[in-house]
Amino acid sequence: MKAIRRFTVRTVLPERLGMLEELATNLRRSWHQPTRQLFRSIDPELWELTSHDPVAMLGAVDSERLEQLASDDTFVGAATELRDELHTYLSEPRWYQSLTDAPASIAYFSPEFGIAAALPQYSGGLGILAGDHLKAASDLGVPIIGVGLFYRAGYFRQAISREGWQLESYPVLDPDGLPLSVLRNPDGSAAQVVLALPDGGALYARIWQVAVGRITLLLLDTDIPENSEQLRTVTDRLYGGGGEHRLLQELLLGIGGVRAIKVYTDLTGVASPGVFHTNEGHAGFLGLERISDLIGQGLSFAEALQVVRAGTVFTTHTPVPAGIDRFEVPLIERYMSTDLLPGVDAADVLALGTENYEGGDPSKFNMAVMGLRLAQRANGVSQLHGEVSREMFGVLWPEFDPEDVPITSVTNGVHAPTWTDPLLTSFAAEKFGNPDTTSVDWMSEVVSDADLWAIRGRMRDQLVRDARRRVSLAWQEQNPGVGDPAWFSELLDPEILTIGFARRVPTYKRLTLMLQDQDRLRALLTHPERPIQLVIAGKSHPADDEGKRLIRRLVEFASEPEVRKRIVFLPNYDIGMAKTLYPGTDVWLNNPLRPLEACGTSGMKAALNGSLNLSILDGWWAEFYDEENGWAIPSADSAGDGAERDKLEAESLYDLIEHQIAPRFYDRNADDVPTRWVESIRHTLATLSPELSADRMVKEYVERLYIPAARAEREIEAKGYQPARELAAWKARVTDAWPGVHVAHVESGGVDSVPQLGDELHLRATVDLAGLTPDDVLVEVVYGRAQASDRLVSVSRRELRVTEESGSPAVFAGTVPLERSGSFGYTVRVVPKHPLLASDAELGLVAVAV
Ligand SMILES: *Cc1c(COP(=O)(O)O)cnc(C)c1O
Repeated sequence: MKAIRRFTVRTVLPERLGMLEELATNLRRSWHQPTRQLFRSIDPELWELTSHDPVAMLGAVDSERLEQLASDDTFVGAATELRDELHTYLSEPRWYQSLTDAPASIAYFSPEFGIAAALPQYSGGLGILAGDHLKAASDLGVPIIGVGLFYRAGYFRQAISREGWQLESYPVLDPDGLPLSVLRNPDGSAAQVVLALPDGGALYARIWQVAVGRITLLLLDTDIPENSEQLRTVTDRLYGGGGEHRLLQELLLGIGGVRAIKVYTDLTGVASPGVFHTNEGHAGFLGLERISDLIGQGLSFAEALQVVRAGTVFTTHTPVPAGIDRFEVPLIERYMSTDLLPGVDAADVLALGTENYEGGDPSKFNMAVMGLRLAQRANGVSQLHGEVSREMFGVLWPEFDPEDVPITSVTNGVHAPTWTDPLLTSFAAEKFGNPDTTSVDWMSEVVSDADLWAIRGRMRDQLVRDARRRVSLAWQEQNPGVGDPAWFSELLDPEILTIGFARRVPTYKRLTLMLQDQDRLRALLTHPERPIQLVIAGKSHPADDEGKRLIRRLVEFASEPEVRKRIVFLPNYDIGMAKTLYPGTDVWLNNPLRPLEACGTSGMKAALNGSLNLSILDGWWAEFYDEENGWAIPSADSAGDGAERDKLEAESLYDLIEHQIAPRFYDRNADDVPTRWVESIRHTLATLSPELSADRMVKEYVERLYIPAARAEREIEAKGYQPARELAAWKARVTDAWPGVHVAHVESGGVDSVPQLGDELHLRATVDLAGLTPDDVLVEVVYGRAQASDRLVSVSRRELRVTEESGSPAVFAGTVPLERSGSFGYTVRVVPKHPLLASDAELGLVAVAV
């Protein structure tokens, strides 16, 4: 029989244990080891059974045990100390508090957040990254307000059928059993936001608050009685439906999210955000809500747009077009022709997101395109992804070379306290007196090779045991009442070179590349002296049958009796599994089709634990591979077709494992320690951990994007938005005049017929400004090495200044030093110039000498 309703009865804790409530509900406990140890000590067995979830554990522990703890002074003392320590953590000045001119708060919007296993509001890397961003922000004292949706079923739970087919289930989450609290009005009623829908409808949402250390995360939830049955399901699942369902989620996230922040700041007195950061395009509607708000204060759409752009940061996460949300234009038009956004015309919205550019599909409304147009600052998530994004979105700045496209990059990082195995942190604490593994000297002799290797062995052993447990649980589920096959107890070997591979299963990640040559893989797995073993996991998007077929191929291979002890597919990849998986692998494998992996973070988490990477030079690895921290699989970019490419890259993969990786792993000294391998572990820990940590990432966001954006918004808002009005008028004037702006001619002098190194080239450019003034433009000489095609490379630029005799047309002059021998080329270009622009390419306007 099925229950029609379900709820969780919260434990009433004995008074002396009241602090446990606070320790359990602030998610800092998900990365604070001493707090986790305290909860574990209450009942180690229950702790495992409840997957390390203190709220669930406190609900399950019997009252006798609680009474016992309440009278245990040592326990109460330890818990009180931890509560006091939490209070200090929440209130003391940290890194951000030492900055000047930093915004009082920052809003961070994301469709998913992966914070703790108990709160599965993520599908993959994007969500985990958002969770890590909040955690690192908390540690650094960055005053972020997170905004997302509360999905009743989160992402699906994966099981694998006996035939190897992925089965999805959507366990419903009970918010009462989670560390959430409803945001309430002073009268005790739940605070709400409401969105006007077509045909007079309305969508209501309540607001859950999650405490992530110092950060408050607001999650909007439509499953409330105010909504019709149908609208209650808007936040039912992460990426549940397509089309309109998805649009409703994104309208709620963006527009409802800004409204929720307003409610939250009004109720709590927390400062309103000076910057809005949108993690991928899904939350893009937030800019429109802010525009609507400003229109209400008397600005025009164009003026409001300047303000919003100044204070918005947009992060793009995917070079895969299928990863970008696009809606049918008429659908957007229908939703925008309502009272949803007072004062905003549907036509203005459509102009922001419609693919009305070369190569675009004008029937589609593209959320990334709107995101870029609503944000003055944008970034990709690794250096290579920055480059790829400048190419990919270059169509929006068609006259500019890709390197001038205003999209920078901030390479992702991962939250070290979350992703470093407690075995390694306590090892560091013991050896160095410092549990922060990203800041100790791993090269030092304080740590012996044998000790470090022993710790790595314990992590591998931990993984082997966890894998056996998971496989056994999955078997019980599929075959109730049937005992485990005997060979399960020999599944994986804690002494064998262990290679891990886990990720979502879109085609470009190539889950089955390793199966290209099955005989060769079998030989590696069963090598008599130097065997390898593979631990694999990953979820396919529920609608992606191709991905599910890949999983089935892998599961089929892994069930062959000859190899089944050495290769295992673990169902239901999630944060909980990941935490044991990354540290337990000796080598972390990643073989995407370059350059489609924007950054990739699983390899970073592995590296933090001393695991070595084996990867295509894509995403973060293209930036950080240094020959000592792992291995690079060469990309066969120039191969004839995809199949040929897969074949070549798979061969390189097998070769690397067979000839380099396995020999190094099994090359042991008299104490059975692979000293050469341990050297690489030390090097990885010493050089990569600080770079890969989310602290580095969040600091970069603060310094390079948040502070400049906050400053830009303050500047443009000054004096009753006067600068915004002027900038909007100036942009309109420049855009109108621009078709007439051109470089009439360029004269050069100052060098002899044979130019020599050290000469100076004098230039005079005559520019027709078509009614603009010399102050409206920047005239530059662009110079560098000229290739045979006349294309300039290694480009530099110098401003040419307007000369006194200038009239109309205006004359600009300057010099260029000839600092390099060899071919030299130059041209002159004109771009709009205004102190409130963040990039020369911002308006997409340029006139180049021809
Ligand atoms: C880190 C992580 C990911 C993302 O890994 P990628 O390498 O970016 O694919 C996905 N799922 C879980 C559970 C993770 O911990």
